[in-house]
Amino acid sequence: MRDFQRTAEPAGAERTEARGDRFVVQEHHATALHWDFRLERDGVLVSWAVPKGLPPHPAQNHLAVHTEDHPLDYIDFEGEIPEGEYGGGQVMLWDQGTYECEKFNEREVIVVLHGRRARGRYVLVKTGGKNWLMHRMDPPDDPTREPMPSGLSPMLPTTRKTLPECDSESESKSESDWLFEPAWGGERVLLACEGGRVVLTAADGADVTERFPEFRALGRALGSLALILDGEVVVLDGTGRPDPALLARRKARPEQPAVFFASDLVWLDGHPAVGLPASDRRTLLAKLDFGGPTWRTNPTSDGQALLAAAGQQGLPGVYGRSAASAYEPGQTSPEFVFVPVPAKDR
Ligand code: MN
Repeated sequence: MRDFQRTAEPAGAERTEARGDRFVVQEHHATALHWDFRLERDGVLVSWAVPKGLPPHPAQNHLAVHTEDHPLDYIDFEGEIPEGEYGGGQVMLWDQGTYECEKFNEREVIVVLHGRRARGRYVLVKTGGKNWLMHRMDPPDDPTREPMPSGLSPMLPTTRKTLPECDSESESKSESDWLFEPAWGGERVLLACEGGRVVLTAADGADVTERFPEFRALGRALGSLALILDGEVVVLDGTGRPDPALLARRKARPEQPAVFFASDLVWLDGHPAVGLPASDRRTLLAKLDFGGPTWRTNPTSDGQALLAAAGQQGLPGVYGRSAASAYEPGQTSPEFVFVPVPAKDR
């Protein structure tokens, strides 16, 4: 399948000394992102392609597709497989280590991995043809880790006429008690990513992933990081301005680029963030340094200044979150507000 004249991959001509107990996980950015799990065994690397990566939690089993044995010196390979070659795309070493073999036959493999990221007892069970199931037998490496929830929908704002700190009833609150950000007139969604796969959920709970194929690249960029972000999907017109009409016509005009503006963090790497104050969630979001060709972190700023700028630039208004407030999926929260640009400033 491979043309070893054309690729930089090891051809297996120079066998390294067989130790017999090594494993490697290679993150492979081929046409479909996957993680190649390889075990050193009888002088070769017995291999599976795991589309979602190693399951970190016993509650999540992942498909593992048995692939051809690879030469031993492939264990250190990382780099680019040329386009057009079998498996073309970037290969990165995700983890390497040693393993203990507890069982190894045609239908079942049980190993204990001693890697930097992959640690613990795993079983691979053949389910039919090339398909196997990979299951973590140990508790999660991080004992407080939880499986990522599904079925969440975004928190929705309460619309108010004025910025919260201008309200006489809340004089005790100062500007710093609220986090303000621009509203782009887009569609509020939750963006969940796990195993490099993105799922977008709209306010009504509908899965709208298929409408926005450009966010597949976002999943690949996040790799094995599991998270759920709240944000706005915005479709830009030819001049880079958000255009709600284009967003509405998106099904008919898929060539219009959509951008995801992340505003809040709901879940990160096995841990819920919903109970943290909004200010702490923002700090975690900032640390992610989330940004790419079609995704950005929505900046926070002074509420009055943002509202004035929104009026000048034809944006609909600003969002505000009470800095101490929790995230309430699927709820309309009084502590998450939308303040439209006043009619006189439009
Ligand atoms: Mn591969």
